[in-house]
Amino acid sequence: QGFRYRPELLEGLPEELTKELKKYEDWFWVDATKLKAISDHFAKELEKGLTVEGGSVPMDVTWIMKYPTGQEKGRVLTVDLGGTNIRVCDVCLSAGKRDFEQRQKKYKLPEAVKSTTKEALWGFIADQIKSFLSENHSGLSASNPLPMAFTFSFPVEQKSIRSGILQHWTKNFNVSGVVGRDVVPQLEEELAKKVVRIVALVNDTAGTLVASHYRDPQVKIGSIFSTGCNAAYMEECRLVPKLRGSGLSEDATVIINTEYGAFDNERKVLPLTPFDRQLDEESAHPGRQIYEKMVAGLYIGEMLRLVLLKMHEEGLLFKGQDVSRLRAANALETSFLSAVEMDMSESLTDVKKVFKESLNLELSLGELKACRYLIGLISMRAARLYACGIAAICKKKGIRQCHVGVDGSVFSKYSMLKGRAVQGLRDIFDWEGDKLDLIALNTAEDGSGVGAALVASVALHPSELEEC
Ligand code: BGC
Ligand code: MG
Repeated sequence: QGFRYRPELLEGLPEELTKELKKYEDWFWVDATKLKAISDHFAKELEKGLTVEGGSVPMDVTWIMKYPTGQEKGRVLTVDLGGTNIRVCDVCLSAGKRDFEQRQKKYKLPEAVKSTTKEALWGFIADQIKSFLSENHSGLSASNPLPMAFTFSFPVEQKSIRSGILQHWTKNFNVSGVVGRDVVPQLEEELAKKVVRIVALVNDTAGTLVASHYRDPQVKIGSIFSTGCNAAYMEECRLVPKLRGSGLSEDATVIINTEYGAFDNERKVLPLTPFDRQLDEESAHPGRQIYEKMVAGLYIGEMLRLVLLKMHEEGLLFKGQDVSRLRAANALETSFLSAVEMDMSESLTDVKKVFKESLNLELSLGELKACRYLIGLISMRAARLYACGIAAICKKKGIRQCHVGVDGSVFSKYSMLKGRAVQGLRDIFDWEGDKLDLIALNTAEDGSGVGAALVASVALHPSELEEC
């Protein structure tokens, strides 16, 4: 029937279901020609984001002007506010050594904190910092504050490395009173007694780039494939028209946080399906982060849920069953998809268990096969589109060969994604024979701990760092 995505998985399915699945395959399959077209357009949009007029991809200047030398030393507190957790970390940099002493604590962010007031958000973070410090540090005072690097994984306009005006919230954050304001003084205000001092505001992708490059100088891109999706790379300032007049020397460089989750918000090239439109409309920020919504972990499960529900409504799946759990928004996490794909058995007993446990649904073998097929298809699309962003940076910079440091629980825990993304890159660049995998996707070093601490230490004078 002309299936391009793994027809062997559909053997023995009833004709009606197969016909229907073909429709989904047409929606979700992105072929090599399309991947090339998307990444070409993507590269142009990155370029446009660097101009004075700008475009839909923010291309935010981070003011991280160089990589660390390896001589950095001293103690830095790092705090990471990401999509799911908050992590506080005490990093000890020691010159010449590539291993760092670290103590850390991770807390899950309560859902309510993501859509509260600014006082409650910063107050919550300040409380975690205080409790961490009370266990791990003594002798801090306002006259001897500990330098802190704050990893804030949202788009900010930075006038310096220690400030950042939130452009808009992404993912499912929607805290009032922060958009358009500098987040650094907002958090500092809640850090009573001022025993820590924020010295750097760092995007997670920039931290990932710095930490990964520190270990492996072949790394040219730092990327996150997690709740959200984004990448950063080192740019020459002379190629950034919006930096003209800022008095930078001819040979200066700066890390650009692309914020490319916003790619194609104007919907020119991405192959949107009716499900993408629905997902966007029902999201916390309709019309924004269109590319991210087709790739990132916050949305993959929801995409699957919408597809399964639609097939149920058409009488093709879960006939006569109670689908109330499936009706709940965000009922499926990315881990649901990876758990299903781990089952390679004929009988799909694990898939059966996963559906029963998570959704209270009993699936026939045919339904199990159909669902696993759809899951593979949706995840395949996400991974192939993920490849387009990385390819776009390489095209824009003329990079033919490099390593990419990729961080994020989705990438590291959903093991099929990497191979699928690599195949996407092969399709885009026509790698064959000895040109296989010129751009390697590697698991990143700790960006929001070590990476952010390195950024802080580069920004400071050595005398401002405490020995550890
Ligand atoms: C944010 C980025 C971040 C990415 C990964 C996106 O939603 O806008 O700043 O790097 O998620 O965490
Ligand atoms: Mg994170």
